[in-house]
Amino acid sequence: MDGCIFCGIASGAIPAKVLFQDDHVVAFHDIHPVAPVHVLVIPKRHVASLGKVSPDDREMLGHLMSAVRRVAVETGVAESGFRTVINTGEGAGQSVFHLHVHVLGGRAFPWPP
Ligand code: 5GP
Ligand code: ZN
Repeated sequence: MDGCIFCGIASGAIPAKVLFQDDHVVAFHDIHPVAPVHVLVIPKRHVASLGKVSPDDREMLGHLMSAVRRVAVETGVAESGFRTVINTGEGAGQSVFHLHVHVLGGRAFPWPP
């Protein structure tokens, strides 16, 4: 989608520290990390947010969650624990309107946040 930063990262037009990618998703390091591990997982296809997914997106969502686990393994936080966050809508803190999962690890995370 024109003007979307994460579509730019997915296509390779905008540089990012990519951890891995496949046909469906890209995992890359957040530019402003808030934890020792802070990776974003996005679908290659533009979907604005979790609030905009349709039943047709079920397969994509499976790829996304599966990639989250791969991020945790590859960054070494699968055993110590990791926090996943999906901000949906401006009111929840979403600032980039291309669906993404934050994978955070390497420190303690309070609950409730
Ligand atoms: P949100 O606030 O939408 O949940 O999260 C957006 C995240 O994207 C933020 O943590 C922000 O630091 C990250 N981000 C924004 N622009 C870029 C960029 O150009 N490159 C990378 N790697 N991360 C970005
Ligand atoms: Zn996009």
